[in-house]
Amino acid sequence: TQWVYSFGAGHNEGSAEMRNLLGGKGANLAEMASIGLPVPPGFTITTEVCTYFYDHGKQYPGELDAAVGAALARIEEAVGLKFGDTEKPLLVSVRSGARVSMPGMMDTVLNLGLNDQTVEGLAKASGDARFAWDSYRRFIQMYGSVVLDVDHHRFEEIIEDVKLDRGAAEDTALTADDWRDVAMGFKTVVADATGNPFPQDPRAQLWGAIGAVFGSWMNARANTYRRLNDIPASWGTAVNVQAMVFGNMGDDCATGVCFTRDPSTGEDIFYGEYLVNAQGEDVVAGIRTPQPMSSGRAKPGEKPMESVMPAAYQELVRVRSVLEKHYKDMQDIEFTVQQNKLYMLQTRNGKRTAAASLKIAVDMCREGLIDETEAVKRVAPGSLDQLLHPTLDPKAPRKLLSKGLPASPGAACGVVVFSSDEAEMRSQKGESVILVRIETSPEDIHGMHAARGILTTRGGMTSHAAVVARGMGRPCVAGAGGIAVDYASQALSSGGQIVRAGDTVTLDGATGEIFLGSVAMIEPQLSGDFATLMEWADKVRRMKVRANAETPLDAETAKKFGAEGIGLCRTEHMFFDPARIGAVRQMIMSETEDGRRSALAKLLPFQRDDFTELFRIMAGLPVTIRLLDPPLHEFLPHTEAEIAEVAASLGVEAAAMQRRASELSEANPMLGHRGCRLGVTYPEIYEMQARAIFEAAVAVAKETGLAPVPEIMIPLVMVKRELDITRAQVDGVAKQVFEETGTTIEYLVGTMIELPRACLTADTIAESADFFSFGTNDLTQTTFGLSRDDAGKFLPAYVEKNVLPKDPFVSIDPDGVGALMSIGAQKGRSVKPGLKLGICGEHGGDPSSISFCETVGLDYVSCSPYRVPVARLAAAQAAL
Ligand code: PEP
Ligand code: MG
Repeated sequence: TQWVYSFGAGHNEGSAEMRNLLGGKGANLAEMASIGLPVPPGFTITTEVCTYFYDHGKQYPGELDAAVGAALARIEEAVGLKFGDTEKPLLVSVRSGARVSMPGMMDTVLNLGLNDQTVEGLAKASGDARFAWDSYRRFIQMYGSVVLDVDHHRFEEIIEDVKLDRGAAEDTALTADDWRDVAMGFKTVVADATGNPFPQDPRAQLWGAIGAVFGSWMNARANTYRRLNDIPASWGTAVNVQAMVFGNMGDDCATGVCFTRDPSTGEDIFYGEYLVNAQGEDVVAGIRTPQPMSSGRAKPGEKPMESVMPAAYQELVRVRSVLEKHYKDMQDIEFTVQQNKLYMLQTRNGKRTAAASLKIAVDMCREGLIDETEAVKRVAPGSLDQLLHPTLDPKAPRKLLSKGLPASPGAACGVVVFSSDEAEMRSQKGESVILVRIETSPEDIHGMHAARGILTTRGGMTSHAAVVARGMGRPCVAGAGGIAVDYASQALSSGGQIVRAGDTVTLDGATGEIFLGSVAMIEPQLSGDFATLMEWADKVRRMKVRANAETPLDAETAKKFGAEGIGLCRTEHMFFDPARIGAVRQMIMSETEDGRRSALAKLLPFQRDDFTELFRIMAGLPVTIRLLDPPLHEFLPHTEAEIAEVAASLGVEAAAMQRRASELSEANPMLGHRGCRLGVTYPEIYEMQARAIFEAAVAVAKETGLAPVPEIMIPLVMVKRELDITRAQVDGVAKQVFEETGTTIEYLVGTMIELPRACLTADTIAESADFFSFGTNDLTQTTFGLSRDDAGKFLPAYVEKNVLPKDPFVSIDPDGVGALMSIGAQKGRSVKPGLKLGICGEHGGDPSSISFCETVGLDYVSCSPYRVPVARLAAAQAAL
């Protein structure tokens, strides 16, 4: 086994592909060296040594010592220095480097190889005693704290003492002798703290640092980080040993960290910071203010590298383009300039914002670095959310009030109101309002619509507030349990802070944060690069993308975002309109079928208008309309006062209404008298809805010539017979309407598959269905036996304790819910090979669920309008 891989000075044994063996840093150092970039020579001890080390009671492989010795000799030869030599000492850096960058591990030791003798050699060789002693004290400090575990405060104290003694305000005022005193003081600190003198043998120092890197792989912080990020301990870390170059040898030296493009906007400019006469950690330590790279980005008074070190800067510009051409991605690099010569110390793909990710992918495709398919793969679909809504200006100051669930993305700012009526009233006056409720119900639709943002203190990611807000594109923070709402006093409180109605707050629906006052925002950009990337995504995707929409506004939004139809129109949302709710309640209150029919007759024109408008907007695209689903009690008033008021307006006894409400009340309404169970027991309801649909379809066909193909969907089917009965009602109405109007249009009747039994018997159900749409909200609820309305209270704890990997209402659980979907799809298609399959639960907008849907072979996904672009991109990636 080869345990050690050399790089640099023309001897490159590794490459970028060897990341698993050499770690990210080691693989890229080898790669940079092999494409001719200036990399100080060094070697990488492989991750397999780390694995061996832990498998063998912390022993190294027998051959390692010789291999390290040989690799070290190669460095010595390449740079003409000798490790431990008192005249011309070689110094090295030791760095960890796992496959993925991993905070929590030992990071870096610089200047290793210095001791009481070699420091003199370094002083002589460099002609700079101050530099030599400063380097030595830095080494003792770093080695002492990261390898020997000495509290770093003890080092800081010594520096402060020496500065005080010499009357020096800044480190820069200290002389060579001062640094020598500091170094000696540091050695005493180490001896005190460890009971042993500071190691003087450079080889002992080296093995100490190597051991510390391997040891840190299993420290508590690294273990926690790995657990949270699903990184297996078996990956191990590599160790990189590399000849030191010095950025702190004078004013022709520097060190810096930069990105090859702007990581926040994606703009094609060199972006980063550097410091003259400094060593690596100084840039991040914040003791001195780093300076910008390019003159174009420099503010008055700043000293950009471009003008301070033009030669080294130009070399860096060249390296930047070599790196981008080679890696075909934006790079995050570390470099050092020693006496005007540039050295590369690290490169990796740079982290970036959603906006930058989009711009860089599109730009690089245009520059010919990558092709369209690669560009499509480069952007995380979920990140588009950030681009489709206003977002908080990252630079804007803010004051956090509390935090809840990030239920619907985007930022919103406005005055707090505690009721939907007030939200509507104040927004009509032109005010921006934030609707704050303990939880929302269908009666809050108008308030949610009027509000800029919605905040609830109860409920999860599929609570009413979350689902409706996502559908409307309203930012929403749900389940903010740290906030107490008191409707009576019109105030909320959180951690002792009181916010009253009329006070301003800002919500960030992407993070779940709630801020006091207003925070500046940035508007979204839907044209340009965004549109281009979407076009490329559409070329490669197989699944269609539809939207869940019922209002004309939602349908327009969905179309604007590229929806190819409506996959779910929840008709009950249309029943809450103030103009209709009376008739709905009258229908519920009726004791007889005749009474119900006459109430439904009042609703018919409203529903017909709703559908007419949807069909017009969707202009020939498929529209899936689901017949009434929720239990009837949801439409009745709840409090005594409301009951009295509604009863009076309907002209019935309050007591009668109270009685009806208690008759309808159920212990488990989501498992109760709802869905097609209503259609079976009150056929007149579905008949009215079917008539409204067909009359609208015929009217639009005559008016526009674009005949819609309504897909009528029956909810909550558990046995085939339910679908047979409701389907017969729908077919009967269709026949009547076609006869009455003399026009026949095409339509489909299908069912939601949202109960486990329906999945398991999908072959039977398919005999009566033209299509299936998986209702994964209810399917998740019924598969797990988890209430979608209540589970939000403890699901976060379940995810935190790793009982569940993710919230199953957000991302399809592939093993349970997903397995049922596969069974449903297979059984359905075993009877009808071409059976149209879709999904309309909230999961239809979740990228990982969409990728699962591709494997099941669904024909389309349907999601809230604002997630349509996310779904288009996710579907494209799933197809690649
Ligand atoms: C579902 O259950 O997944 C679904 C789409 O229907 P609803 O959310 O209206 O119950
Ligand atoms: Mg459902």
